Amino acid sequence: TRSPFVDYDYLIKVVVVGDSGVGKSQLVARFTRNEFSTNSRQTIGVEFATKTIKVESRSICAQLWDTAGEERYRALASAYYRGAVGVLLVYDVTNMKSYQNIAHWLSEIKAYTLPTCQVLMVGNKIDLKGVRKITEPQAKTFASSNGMKYVETSALECTNVADSFTTLVHGIYKNTI
Ligand code: GDP
Ligand code: MG
Repeated sequence: TRSPFVDYDYLIKVVVVGDSGVGKSQLVARFTRNEFSTNSRQTIGVEFATKTIKVESRSICAQLWDTAGEERYRALASAYYRGAVGVLLVYDVTNMKSYQNIAHWLSEIKAYTLPTCQVLMVGNKIDLKGVRKITEPQAKTFASSNGMKYVETSALECTNVADSFTTLVHGIYKNTI
């Protein structure tokens, strides 16, 4: 009994956060348009993309919010997180600082979302094997001790990208819809 104008059952808001340069925009581009660009321009303000996923015969339209990680935009944090039911928290497995900053992002998520909000931690750029700084077991341990699932991706090689978003949406469906 869907409206002829709307081809989904649920519309959910998912925000993508993490340090600048970790690959947030490329993950969203890969997932929603199957695109990747090596000279990706920096995100200004907020960008949106949507993707509809089927879960147990329901169509869930995920509206993905992608923002710049810079502090100068953080004044918008509360507006950015408002109404989000899921967060993709991304770091770059070759960048120690982006891993250490996960704790900062977690505290921001806690401050601005409801406790039911599902958070998936994502280690991106696993194609850069030679310069990797954080091991998978290390990141997994950190994620589980903070109540998060953990997935590793490469937006470049298209590894686990759809998996990460669909894992998050399944978790949202089970826990909050
Ligand atoms: P954002 O600031 O988090 O949105 O990061 P971008 O998506 O703009 O990506 C920053 C840079 O990392 C760009 O040069 C991308 O091409 C590159 N990048 C993103 N994902 C990957 C990946 O999976 N592997 C590699 N090798 N580079 C990536
Ligand atoms: Mg970006």
